[in-house]
Amino acid sequence: MSQITKIFGELTFSRAVMREKLSHNTYERLISTIHTGNPLDESIAEPVAHAMKEWAIAEGATHFTHWFQPQRGGTAEKHDAFITYSETGDIIERFSAKQLIQSEPDASSFPSGGMRSTFEARGYTAWDPTSPAFLLETGNAKTLVIPCVFLSWTGAVLDLKTPFLRSMRALNDAGIRLQRLLGNRLAKKIVVNCGPEQEYFVVSKKLYDTRQDLRICGRTLFGAAPAKGQQMEDHYFGAIHPKMIKFMVELDHELYRRGIPAKTRHNEVSPNQFEIAPLYEEANLAIDHNLQAMDVMRQVAMRHDLYITMHEKPFARVNGSGKHVNWSIGDNTGTNYLEPSASPLKNISFLLTLGALMLGVDKFGGLLRACVADAGNDHRLGASEAPPAIMSIYLGEYLTRLIDEIERMGKPTEQVMANINMGVRNLPRISKDYSDRNRTSPIAFTGNKFEFRAVGSSQNPSESVTLLNQLCTYGFFTIEKRLAAHKDKDIRESALLVLKDVFKETRRVRFEGNGYSEEWHKQAEKLGLPNAKNTPAALNAFLEPEAIELMEKTHVLNEREVCAKVEIKLENYVKTKEIEYKTAVNIAKTEILPAVVRQISAVASAAAAAKAAGATSKVLTAEVKKFDAMYSDIKSRFEALEAVLNKADDKENLHKKAVYLADAGEKALSMLRESVDQAEQLLAHEFWPMAKYQELLTVL
Ligand code: ADP
Ligand code: MG
Repeated sequence: MSQITKIFGELTFSRAVMREKLSHNTYERLISTIHTGNPLDESIAEPVAHAMKEWAIAEGATHFTHWFQPQRGGTAEKHDAFITYSETGDIIERFSAKQLIQSEPDASSFPSGGMRSTFEARGYTAWDPTSPAFLLETGNAKTLVIPCVFLSWTGAVLDLKTPFLRSMRALNDAGIRLQRLLGNRLAKKIVVNCGPEQEYFVVSKKLYDTRQDLRICGRTLFGAAPAKGQQMEDHYFGAIHPKMIKFMVELDHELYRRGIPAKTRHNEVSPNQFEIAPLYEEANLAIDHNLQAMDVMRQVAMRHDLYITMHEKPFARVNGSGKHVNWSIGDNTGTNYLEPSASPLKNISFLLTLGALMLGVDKFGGLLRACVADAGNDHRLGASEAPPAIMSIYLGEYLTRLIDEIERMGKPTEQVMANINMGVRNLPRISKDYSDRNRTSPIAFTGNKFEFRAVGSSQNPSESVTLLNQLCTYGFFTIEKRLAAHKDKDIRESALLVLKDVFKETRRVRFEGNGYSEEWHKQAEKLGLPNAKNTPAALNAFLEPEAIELMEKTHVLNEREVCAKVEIKLENYVKTKEIEYKTAVNIAKTEILPAVVRQISAVASAAAAAKAAGATSKVLTAEVKKFDAMYSDIKSRFEALEAVLNKADDKENLHKKAVYLADAGEKALSMLRESVDQAEQLLAHEFWPMAKYQELLTVL
């Protein structure tokens, strides 16, 4: 492995490359575009496109692609060669300003939730200059990749980056206004930082090939519990397997070349589960980098004969995988508003930011649950896994005490204000150990950031960051309005009076205890906190009038776009479930039943042989009957699942279909699984058609 600083970002059209390839004037204007977040100025698009092409070709690229984030998840790309005809009819390499700023992929195969009728099937992608172009290396192909937003010709949102960029704009306006009220004249632009911790499972490619369910669904649909799962608790932070170290070293190397600051690598709780976490970056970049990193992980794994699954629950009975999205907010001066400080006003800003987020979570907890809802993540949220589906905030003992004090506070005298300032200032930097004590909370304050842990490991973190931005914007709005009621007072005094109410009102979302516990679920219900068990139930939160109002007020999505989003999510859910159920039926029918037949036949011949040899063969005959019953049992259970699939098609709308698949479908699948898992434990090992958990979770 080379020295990190030597290779870092070598595949990106970085500032250093820009400085070298662009004129001083163009460079300065491009950098200022990046800082302001405005679209690229057309007059510099031509020289920028030219420089990008020259650089990419010199690096061996032949094609370029507009890279974007469709709503279905993942990323999408369409490659075009740099070639065109010259005036004399020869082939030349060219990349124009128009190709840089805008391209027209056929949008008709991307989910739009019915927003695009066929006559307007085309959408366009446009470069987001705040995210640098980079080279994609796959085998011997090199492609210039241009990170883009994706819109329909009518301007309707088709991707996940556009809403995110809009949420940043709304947060910027509200945040800067509040900072001005606090007397901050230096802040010019709100900055959100993000560091997503990515969990994943690794399986030996050879074993993976035997599992139709892993290949098609990314998760196992069957599998009896292994004798040794995670009960010894010996994997977490344990010594990393040499084969994994080799993989991780190469992975880090590839990430560094792409300018992705991978920082931490370690074993996770379950056997064969791991985590990678980067240094934090500005959210837009952090999101793009997380999506790239997931792709690079899959590619590097293939080179090591490993298969990676980012599925939220690839294996039953051991931990699932999440993506902990660390979120903090500050401004262009480098100040982090969630960082306690020596300045009393900054500490007021700290408390107000905290309060803003609490207001948001209190009001829109259901929405927060909805934005991470999908078929995969349902196995974590609402399935007695970490974290629960109830959205609460963990602040830690010290901060809780401080907030209780503010709630109880009488008039904010100088003395009271000084005490509270002292309290914030002395807020201990919460050590890893301390914040790790409560792993059951979906939203934890960890020293100078919030850690949102309900995000699914396979999900685009964009939707969560967008919503956290919106919740904070809502909180800032609310606080600003309330401050206006005290405008004759000193700002610190009025802020504390506002905070007193805010903390009182949002008390129900603060929870320090065990999020799995029965008592919390009961208490949360009494407190009126939403607790949607699955995706179809969770998605309703998007359609509540207040949610739509939030989307519209923050200019993130309009009502039509919200409805389209729900439609896309439901569609995704239904398709995932149908694929899982069909795969389960297919495996049971074409792999499991034939295995049972072989078992019956083996035992029946043994019984006949025993009888011929003069033994009673009673036990063996009973065994034949047992396996015969097992055959009928499995058959009737997959037929029941098939019946659910057929009946689902009769439902009058997508929501009803999703609800039915979630309820009846899950029940039928788990019944089938029960029989198949039992068969796995009773059939001869040599007859079992696929790798078992014991191997999948230990062999690499
Ligand atoms: P842990 O949460 O495991 O104790 P760290 O505090 O080092 O570990 O951070 C974990 C993740 O949080 C990392 O990906 C890191 O980039 C991110 N992170 C750290 N500080 C911030 C911050 N101020 N804003 C956003 N993300 C952050
Ligand atoms: Mg963490």
